[in-house]
Amino acid sequence: MKLLNRKPSFCTICKKQISHKHKPKREWAIEGPLCADCYLNKMHEQYEIGIKQKCVVCGIEKKVPDLWEPRWQWEMKGLFCKKCFDEKEQEFHKLQDYCSICGVKFGFLRYNAKSKWKVTGQLCKDCWNTQKAKEG
Ligand SMILES: [Zn+2]
Ligand SMILES: [Zn+2]
Ligand SMILES: [Zn+2]
Repeated sequence: MKLLNRKPSFCTICKKQISHKHKPKREWAIEGPLCADCYLNKMHEQYEIGIKQKCVVCGIEKKVPDLWEPRWQWEMKGLFCKKCFDEKEQEFHKLQDYCSICGVKFGFLRYNAKSKWKVTGQLCKDCWNTQKAKEG
């Protein structure tokens, strides 16, 4: 009878007993073997962290978690760095081309909110009417 004299190994992350050890990459700073699941998760995580994209406005390259998604009202695609996001938002508020409540783009008509409504900016007809009905 053959004796299996191998010590069982355990995944460093989830502590599951593993038959096939995956060696973590050196840059992960993990001491010890990983199971297949944790190894793949880690790979994926590191990949996401490592992806860089350019800000669509100024072209600066940053890691994706440091970039901002544009607001949907801006009708823009891509990602923004913090600086460009802030600038864009300011510019957007200045233009006030969109209803402050529902975000619809104005055509020819826009309505000033009454000061007692505590709404800043201008409103589309529908929202103005709704506010008027609610707040008078
Ligand atoms: Zn594991
Ligand atoms: Zn930028
Ligand atoms: Zn509206």
